[in-house]
Formats: sequence, C-alpha cells, structure tokens
Amino acid sequence: MEFNNLYNNSELKNIVNNDIKNNMLNHAYLLCGQDEVLLKYLAKQFAKNILCENNLCNSCLVCNKIEKGIHSDVLTYPQDESKGIVVEDVNNIVEKAYVFPLEANKKIFILNNFDLATIQAQNKLLKTLEEPPTSSMFILTSTNPSNILNTIKSRAKTINIPLLKNDAVQDFILKNSTLKLREVAPYVSSAQGNLTKAIKIIADADFISIKDLSLSVVLKLKESGEILRYANKILSYKGRVNEIFDEIALIVLDVLYTKMGLTENVLNKDNLQNYLNSNFSVKALKIVYDEILNSQNKLKNNCNVNVVVDNFLVTMLEVKHKWK
Ligand SMILES: [Zn+2]
Repeated sequence: MEFNNLYNNSELKNIVNNDIKNNMLNHAYLLCGQDEVLLKYLAKQFAKNILCENNLCNSCLVCNKIEKGIHSDVLTYPQDESKGIVVEDVNNIVEKAYVFPLEANKKIFILNNFDLATIQAQNKLLKTLEEPPTSSMFILTSTNPSNILNTIKSRAKTINIPLLKNDAVQDFILKNSTLKLREVAPYVSSAQGNLTKAIKIIADADFISIKDLSLSVVLKLKESGEILRYANKILSYKGRVNEIFDEIALIVLDVLYTKMGLTENVLNKDNLQNYLNSNFSVKALKIVYDEILNSQNKLKNNCNVNVVVDNFLVTMLEVKHKWK
C-alpha cells in the first residue's frame, strides 16, 4: 500500500468530498485521533484535497507546494513546533485570515496539536471561528480533545481518525527506515497501528534487546536461582523499567490468548509455537498480568525499583508453579 493512499482510503476523504459535493464545506474541522503523525499528514492531504484542481493528484504545482509547506495560502501552526499554539500565533492567524488568499480561492490554516494551545490562545481564536472570513478555513488536529474548549469544538466539525491497520504501518516503517521486510514484524506489532509510536521505536537503539529480554522473562525464566541475573538485566535499562513491564504485559496477554485458543488476538504471531509450549496455565497468566499492573502502580508511587522488580519475578515464578 502506498503511503499516499492513506488519505485516499480514509473515511476522512469521503466526508470531505461529500461536504464539497453538497456545498456544505465547514469553515473548521477538528481531526481527532491517537496518532499525531497521521493526523498531521491527513491535515495536509485535506488541504490538497480542497485546493488541488485535479482532485488531489499529489503531483501538480499546488500539491507540491503544500507538501513542501511553501504554499502561500496554506499556513501551518504552531510556528514553534516544540510548543503549542500561543497568543502570538493566533494574532498572526487572525491578521492573515482577513487578507484575501494570494494563489488559491481559499486560505487554509492547519493548526496542529491544538490541545496544546494555551487557554488564552484558544479564547483569542474563538471570535474568528465564530465569524470566520468566507475565504478562510481551519483544520485543527488533536490527540487529546478534552483539552480543547467546548466553545471551540462546537464551531468545528469533529472527525475521528482511527488507528491504521498493521499493513499500512509496515509499509510506513519500510519506507522510513533501513529495516528489511524480514526484520519488521516486532516493530509493526509494537507500534499498534500508530505511526507516531513507530517513529519512536525505529529511533530506539534498545528496542529489540528490550523486547528479547521481556520475552525471555516470560518464557525462559524457570529457576529462582536465575532471578538475580534477570533482575540485573532489567535494571540495566535505567529509567525504562516501566516500559519493560508494558512489554512483559503484552507478551503475557499474547500467551494468555494463545492458551485460550484466541489466536486471532495474538499480537506477535511469530511466537505462537513458543507461547503454546510455555508452562503457564491460564489462571497463572491472569494473576501475573494483575501483578504487572500492581508493580507499575508501585513504581508510580516511587517504591524502590530494585525491590519492585525482584518481587515481581519471585511472584511470577511462584504463581507459575502453584497454578500449573
Ligand atoms: Zn494536485
């Protein structure tokens, strides 16, 4: 699947094209979802969809300029990506919104991560959203819409963007990393349909070793004499113990699904045979899963990390033997 098809295959495109066809194009849209990278990408495609004269061709001058961020009528905020939208941005937006578009028949403002905008900035934008200049249009994106003022939300048409299917994420990873097809499966399963997560994982030098360690904690740790060695390995990833618990939890769930015959729910199907061979009973797995959540809670409450890891490994072995 081509990355360009993400928009073409999305429900968003249908909604936008219907709105255009029915002459009901809203002056403001709010794209909500969990994947920041996907939302930004779709917002840009949305702008092309509005301005491209060849039905979003991705090859004309207009599409190219929007892609490169140099179209004079498609303006993206915040200007400082490290912050949310601030009052200064909104001043800039309001000023430009009332100026006629230069190249196109509409001016499109893409306001990314709008939930990070300060309350002052949101309030300041409100008036423009209430009485927008007819030639201006706003596309807001947000991974956390509860931080957006209701008065803003009521002025925009909200469109929920679901996470992607694994094949789309795989395609994205192959295009945006040096990974080969045979290496990509663990990255795809950990990204869980989220491109933002995928990008983070690709850049993480310890990703594979943490994954392998978590897998051996669940499948290979058998004797209490090995606990110290495993604990030391886990603790060697300073500051990432909570993540390792997350990873162990995913594997425990995978084994649980496997043992319950619900293999369609298993994330990493490459490990199915290993999961099937493990000595855990369903009952033990459920207790271990609760114990992971319990351990993560203790970490959150600043309990000693060495003690938490030790206790978890001891409990896991005990439970495994008790509920055979
Ligand atoms: Zn085009």
